[in-house]
Amino acid sequence: MQNDPANPFVFLVGAGPGSPGLLTVRGAEVLGRADLVLYDQLVPERLLDLAPPHAERICVRDLPGTHPDKYPHIHKKLVEAATAGKTVVRLKGGDPLIFGRGGEEAESLRAAGLAYEIVPGVTAALAAGAYLEIPLTHRMYSSSIAFITGHELPTKPGNKLDWKAVAAFPGTLAIYMGIARLPVIVAELLKYGKSPDTPAAIVERASVGEQRSVFATLGTLEETRRHAGLEAPGLVLIGETVAQRASHPWFESRPLFGQRVLVTRPSHQAGGMVRKLEHLGAVVSKMPAVEIRDLADFTLVDAALGQLRRGEWDWLVFTSANGVHAMLRRLDAIGRDLRDLGSVKFAAIGPKTADALREYRLRADVVPADTFSSEGLANALKPYVRGNRVLLARANRGRAELQDELAKVATIDQVAVYDQVDAITPIATVLDALRRGEIRYVTLPSPNIARGILSGFDETIRGRVERGEIRLVAISPITGDAVRALGFPVAAEATTFTEDGLIAAVVHLAGEECKK
Ligand code: SAH
Repeated sequence: MQNDPANPFVFLVGAGPGSPGLLTVRGAEVLGRADLVLYDQLVPERLLDLAPPHAERICVRDLPGTHPDKYPHIHKKLVEAATAGKTVVRLKGGDPLIFGRGGEEAESLRAAGLAYEIVPGVTAALAAGAYLEIPLTHRMYSSSIAFITGHELPTKPGNKLDWKAVAAFPGTLAIYMGIARLPVIVAELLKYGKSPDTPAAIVERASVGEQRSVFATLGTLEETRRHAGLEAPGLVLIGETVAQRASHPWFESRPLFGQRVLVTRPSHQAGGMVRKLEHLGAVVSKMPAVEIRDLADFTLVDAALGQLRRGEWDWLVFTSANGVHAMLRRLDAIGRDLRDLGSVKFAAIGPKTADALREYRLRADVVPADTFSSEGLANALKPYVRGNRVLLARANRGRAELQDELAKVATIDQVAVYDQVDAITPIATVLDALRRGEIRYVTLPSPNIARGILSGFDETIRGRVERGEIRLVAISPITGDAVRALGFPVAAEATTFTEDGLIAAVVHLAGEECKK
């Protein structure tokens, strides 16, 4: 039943102001079961990952019609999909009912006899308050806040916005869509007696690393904006509370605030690193250099699993979390379970790999104490595996050091449990950003990835790296060596060879550079 009020098929969901974490839990829940996500251009793209893989994702930009004419098409699409029994999430920036035309969309659903639910979102003014640390109300200075549009429909019937009343409003003014008409808005407010000395601010992209803001007074706001080059879309805040802001808002004090960082890990593994960097204030781009694939042919893995079942190996060694997942997923896929692994001992190259084992309730018997590399693992393992039979589970390609070292003391064989392939196309927009010098830090989490990424660099990008405008940050000295072998300078190497270590190296480098 498409019109069962207890079980609607359509959800109008507020995506929040830009930082993906500001979506509500309810919003995430309904996205998680969407068949169709119809989203606005400004919603954070990463939220689309919350929809199931099969879900269709359509940006309303790609529907026919231009801006105000688009709405009939959006309504039509919503109604059609819901009538066909699809679960539809209409994902809108901020809150759906604040200058979002959510009301009109709800109306068209009602007219079609369809039930729906509205999930509120964090509206831009609230994000501006939190991320610039401006109290929007204040016991001493402001007991109210007004949400105002600076861009009214020219065809709106009846009263236009009453600027006289707005000027007299006893509280904070939050003006949406007001940048393009700022001179007119300011003139109206001054005309009706608002003091030119009233504190005022403009914020662009509140809640994400691109956040930029200016502070001025009503009288100097437009000039200050022009000087700083702030453009629409942006939010204008006017009122005494603006002067009560924190001088160093918490978000802008984050160590990577506004720094542009490139994450090169395979797409399915990039998420955690992207989130951590964004929490540190960074503006993150992604360009996977390699991707992880299932093997086309599991014959050798199945044979290895058979040998493990028969107790033919004493040790099973994993050099990546990918390897753990590939091997244990295969065990499950062939209808077997952990008991087949019997009493084999496990070694993991580092904490991430050991964590992957823990997901299957398995503990690594050996993890190197500090050097998370093939060398570190070989050194840590050697005392344990003397005379043992050791199986390495690894990617279809990689370094031979571990096998060579362990072969000196143990019987060793290896099996490729997953494919690592070069990512098909480097992302043109990211390469352009590198060319234009819009990315500062390139994180390199393995020698293979470093080689993959750097081979896509043209002369322009290479020049920027050589002049120190783009900084290459390596996860370990081995990765650093791979970079140097290609003739590029390494700006920093992590001292702990993990993702967190790599992030710490970027933070450290950025800190050094900002002292200069
Ligand atoms: N429904 C949205 C508003 C849509 S109107 C909400 O509740 O936030 C679009 C306007 O919102 C923009 O012109 C700008 O004024 C404001 N806006 C949206 N996100 C913003 C952000 N992250 N920072 C500053 N202003 C933002």
